[in-house]
Amino acid sequence: MSRRYPKPLARLIEELVRLPGIGPKTAQRLAFFLISQPPAEVESLAAAIVEAKRRIHYCSQCFHLTEEDPCAICSDPKRNHRFICVVEEPRDVIAMERTKSFDGVYHVLHGAISPLDGIGPNQLKVKELVARVTPEVEEVVLATDPNVEGEATAMYLARVLKPLGVKVTRMAHGMPVGSDLEYVDEVTLTKALEGRREL
Ligand code: ZN
Repeated sequence: MSRRYPKPLARLIEELVRLPGIGPKTAQRLAFFLISQPPAEVESLAAAIVEAKRRIHYCSQCFHLTEEDPCAICSDPKRNHRFICVVEEPRDVIAMERTKSFDGVYHVLHGAISPLDGIGPNQLKVKELVARVTPEVEEVVLATDPNVEGEATAMYLARVLKPLGVKVTRMAHGMPVGSDLEYVDEVTLTKALEGRREL
């Protein structure tokens, strides 16, 4: 790559190709686009990346992305703090919030159990979830993705949480199997929440 491009351009392409969903061709296209832009535009983009990375952290309670700690959802007294929705990724919180049909709080696991990838409960925010399930918590709804890893994670969490005396539910089927929660439309997601079943 470095033989074909001037060094700084080759480096930019190498950085871009590391991003998810960006292949070499797209990386090249983005790099050429960025180079063609006015310096102020490019500096604004670079500054936005650096600033977002510097200011956004995980909420110490739910592990969603936030600038303030605890996050806006955890610190909202109007939310039902006795009802915890467990999701895999921060983007799933965004998807659930879009439905406007959930008034509880969240817990972001940051992944799903996947033995093939070497991801077990210890690599996820499971300990932190168990610590949050105090006697005041009435229900934990498991909203992990409807795929193999998501189901395995839900089964595991049900086994760990039920002995604590909390009601554990699973989002209803009707969500496309194998799908990512974040891509499920709002109506389907709302129905899946309403039709949740006890485990
Ligand atoms: Zn939070």
